[in-house]
Amino acid sequence: MSTPLLEIKALSKRFGGLVAVNGLSFDVHAGEVVGLLGPNGSGKTTAMNLVSGALAPSAGEVRFAGRRISGLPSHQIARLGVARTFQLVRVLGGMNCRDNVAAGLAFRPGGLHGRAAAQAAQQLLERVGLGAQAGLAASELTYIDQKRLELARALALAPKLLLLDEWLAGLNPTELQQGIALIAALRDEGMTVLMVEHVMDAVHALCSRCVVMNAGARIADGATRTVLSDPRVIEAYLGS
Ligand code: ADP
Repeated sequence: MSTPLLEIKALSKRFGGLVAVNGLSFDVHAGEVVGLLGPNGSGKTTAMNLVSGALAPSAGEVRFAGRRISGLPSHQIARLGVARTFQLVRVLGGMNCRDNVAAGLAFRPGGLHGRAAAQAAQQLLERVGLGAQAGLAASELTYIDQKRLELARALALAPKLLLLDEWLAGLNPTELQQGIALIAALRDEGMTVLMVEHVMDAVHALCSRCVVMNAGARIADGATRTVLSDPRVIEAYLGS
């Protein structure tokens, strides 16, 4: 088998006396959509932060496309092709959608500027179903449209790996189906995705494989259906 796109090797993160991630190892191959699951407090967000470079590990390493990325600053990891969704509205709420996405396009390798960026931003907004809202301020968008904008902004970086941290949380049933369809379309185009997700319909629809964490450690890794019927996984969720 080819080198995995993402390799997480014996990764640990301590916060003072608390071990949030404890010797975590798993791989993600190109083209996979992998779910990162586990009860609240099991270390999923910390693990995502270790991959994106928002946090540096206490031990172990993260490799991306064969290269060690743990320890690099997050902007450098993003430029290497690891994008995550951010709550843009909090930081860039006053800026319109097109400019929000154009800012991401300017940042990517071989960055786009000016008219080229505006055109590419419009295409990305149409891709996520926000074409008509391009001129609206991010803060004026509905919740689902804010989610769409976060995704367009992440895609502007032309990522090879997309990190989604509960991107589908808080949507109504119709919006959830739209959100799932959007991720499924990216998957079908070959995007590699690592997603923390509690919405089980989405996990079943999108993830071929799941890694389950409990108390900072991996307790299961395998085909979604197999993992979700694993007694240790069920026990971890019931115990939380
Ligand atoms: P999950 O995403 O699975 O809910 P987290 O990664 O958010 O879990 O948290 C794992 C553990 O690490 C929790 O006990 C949490 O309180 C703790 N933790 C997370 N971030 C910090 C931090 N910055 N400082 C101290 N403890 C933290």
